[in-house]
Amino acid sequence: MQTFRHSHSLGQNFLTDKNLLAAIVADSGVTNGDTVIEVGAGMGALTRPLAESGARVIAFEIDERLKEYLEPLKTEYACLDLIFGDFMKADINEVTGGARYKAVANLPYYITTPVLFRFLEDPLCDGVTVMVQKEVAERITAPAGGKDYGALSVAAQMCGKPCITRIVGRNLFTPPPNVDSAVVNIRLSAERPDESVRRVVRAAFSMRRKTLVNCLTNAGYAKDKVLSALSALALDPAVRGERLTPMQFVSLSKLL
Ligand code: SAM
Repeated sequence: MQTFRHSHSLGQNFLTDKNLLAAIVADSGVTNGDTVIEVGAGMGALTRPLAESGARVIAFEIDERLKEYLEPLKTEYACLDLIFGDFMKADINEVTGGARYKAVANLPYYITTPVLFRFLEDPLCDGVTVMVQKEVAERITAPAGGKDYGALSVAAQMCGKPCITRIVGRNLFTPPPNVDSAVVNIRLSAERPDESVRRVVRAAFSMRRKTLVNCLTNAGYAKDKVLSALSALALDPAVRGERLTPMQFVSLSKLL
């Protein structure tokens, strides 16, 4: 095998520490009989312990140069499916056959947010355990009102219980990225917010310094309806979106 040239633009920061990889699998709670989706298999460092758990692993990898490292794993693990292509273009239902699944990955950082939203919005996804930039992990778990609180925090906290299970220093990656990382585990609840709640949340955070009333009217909601909904929730008419808890967003959306 030739020396591999890591692609920065594809977020190729690989893991090798076996203890850390085993800990990520343990954090995910994946067991024999589960279906797992891994986004970005790389050289298979995480794919291998996932497959060893006895779960059915569906691993996506966009970079075909990694075939020579990944394809040999297929002969070792009958429960492994490799898909060479862009995860964002895949039909999840089609690849899982409609099965419930858990998502486990050391995510390529350039698509962290859209990948997370895909899993959070998929009612068949039971849990997400992902390595993300530490700063993104802090946004996912941020409480309402703080500087890190935003649409991703609300989405994650409306869909389940996110927690940071470990902080991972940059030196544990090859090559090391410029920032530290963290593993986040989100146990997803069966009840997920529907598109009407998601629309309110997107609108609320579309203009960070504006009031919630301005953000929502700008997105097409009638001002009188927004004002009476805020009043029914005993919220100040000048409140900003970042002050509302995930539950308050659900109530607001019902009233609108
Ligand atoms: N899982 C491996 C590990 O932990 O060592 C690799 C993780 S690395 C941070 C992210 C991987 O995602 C890279 O191998 C990259 O090529 C792959 N990747 C990037 N964009 C992708 C996409 N849109 N769909 C599938 N894989 C992607």
